[in-house]
Amino acid sequence: MTTPAPKTPAPRRAAVIGAGFGGLALAIRLQSAGIATTLFEARDKPGGRAYVYEQDGFTFDAGPTVITDPACLEELFALSGRRLSDYVTLLPVSPFYRLQWSDGVSFDYVNDQAELDRQIAALEPRDVQGYRRFLAYSEELYREGYEKLGSAPFLDWGSMLKAAPELMRLQAWRSVHDKVAEFIREPHLRQAFSFHSLLVGGNPFATSSVYALIHALERRGGVWFPKGGTGALVQGLVRLFQDLGGEVRLNAPVSRILTRAGAVAGVEVDGKVEAFDVAASNADVRTTYARLLRDEPLAAPVARSLERKRWSMSLFVIYFGTKRTFPDVAHHTVLFGPRYKELIGEIFNGPKLAQDFSLYLHRPTASDPDLAPPGCDGFYVLSPVPHLGRADLDWAKEGQLYRDRILAYLDRTLMPGLTESLATTRIFTPFDFRDELGAHLGSAFSLEPILTQSAFFRAHNRDDRIGGLYLVGAGTHPGAGVPGVVGSAKATAGLMIADAAALRPAA
Ligand SMILES: Cc1cc2nc3c(=O)[nH]c(=O)nc-3n(C[C@H](O)[C@H](O)[C@H](O)COP(=O)(O)OP(=O)(O)OC[C@H]3O[C@@H](n4cnc5c(N)ncnc54)[C@H](O)[C@@H]3O)c2cc1C
Repeated sequence: MTTPAPKTPAPRRAAVIGAGFGGLALAIRLQSAGIATTLFEARDKPGGRAYVYEQDGFTFDAGPTVITDPACLEELFALSGRRLSDYVTLLPVSPFYRLQWSDGVSFDYVNDQAELDRQIAALEPRDVQGYRRFLAYSEELYREGYEKLGSAPFLDWGSMLKAAPELMRLQAWRSVHDKVAEFIREPHLRQAFSFHSLLVGGNPFATSSVYALIHALERRGGVWFPKGGTGALVQGLVRLFQDLGGEVRLNAPVSRILTRAGAVAGVEVDGKVEAFDVAASNADVRTTYARLLRDEPLAAPVARSLERKRWSMSLFVIYFGTKRTFPDVAHHTVLFGPRYKELIGEIFNGPKLAQDFSLYLHRPTASDPDLAPPGCDGFYVLSPVPHLGRADLDWAKEGQLYRDRILAYLDRTLMPGLTESLATTRIFTPFDFRDELGAHLGSAFSLEPILTQSAFFRAHNRDDRIGGLYLVGAGTHPGAGVPGVVGSAKATAGLMIADAAALRPAA
């Protein structure tokens, strides 16, 4: 049994608050279904975590760089008979990732089974068969957790109970690392096949093993990078929405969602009230209830309950350009430090910034040299760090010091000569996640994706009590990551379109 939709009039106009991937995908789906949609974005550019910095001739994508499951993006264009390739070109990336450890071990994670087998056998011959079994397990998770449930709204216990037997059979209560360790013995390989949940804000030692589906997702759909950077993909989605007749308002922070008799009545932007029949928030879920709905009594208990949840870690990001190229650096490199489990524990629980780090290094110019001036390279490096509720750090001071430590480490390990060839740098700290993106506790990925905060236990795609209020993005089911939030948009749009149809008077 599903929760009946709270009664609202048939929507004539919808507001989507926030132009992250989730907000954009939702706006496209609504507009494609004939619902006149206005997309409000607080910042001067769309994209949210996928913002773009142009600095000293370099183009830096701020966030997502590993584009997986292109089919979920293709679907947004197909809704109106269009094609993604008419808007943006996706370039294949190989290796998917280069994994490097501080003890000198290196592993190119590629989509070629024979080459994968060869590299696995070089580390531990018995793990070749173990990997096959892990891949089969990941495939099953993909079918159950992604294809069947990835864009289904979990509004009630019934939907959870229906999914439960399959989740139990797949041992979803166990952690990603625990399940990987069941199949694979060698410690480097265990890290190589378990770190993926970090990409969506999940601790591999605590996150449900369902997230091991990311491995199958990558093997099936590949890893891609848009020509012109992830920003070009965002622009492609904006253009699609506008071609459909949708309206995008930049520099338009919504300060309040207005309600009347427990149902959405409009939004307040720049002190002006605009009437809307329904609103969907792509802003941080806790911020939505605590700030945007501060006048609505039904919102306060939801905000309080969200404050008690576990929030995903934050990130420290350095964007940097160099005066020369570093051709040996792959497009995506993961640098594992000497500690894995202990370091991840400190990242998720604090209370301090660890002295060692595990880093993700992005070199987009490996795929698209036009993102930097001729003869130069553009990069970003990110370090997962505790969120502001876990470690009380003054990032205004700590940021510069941490930046210098990380760049010196890269210079010593992977990129000799880096510090003297820097052309430009900028940083993004947990304070920026909090202040620029309104992220609760500066979390980079919203609610931590543990089993007790997933599906029905995550913020619902349609509010249970406030009429005409919907949510989309990383804080809702299924969670963070571009395919995740695009899936959440599908779930939310399905509800909004069905609710609109149910309330429309019969012809
Ligand atoms: C550094 C980094 C790297 C990542 N790398 C990857 C990757 O490689 N692959 C991958 O799949 N995922 C990656 N992710 C995760 C992925 O980027 C996010 O989960 C996803 O983009 C979040 O999308 P969202 O729809 O939740 O919206 P967000 O990106 O959070 O956007 C929300 C938008 O709402 C706007 N907003 C907020 N409040 C208001 C308001 N009051 N009025 C108007 N607008 C408002 C914000 O300005 C923002 O633009 C990465 C994340 C980060 C931070």
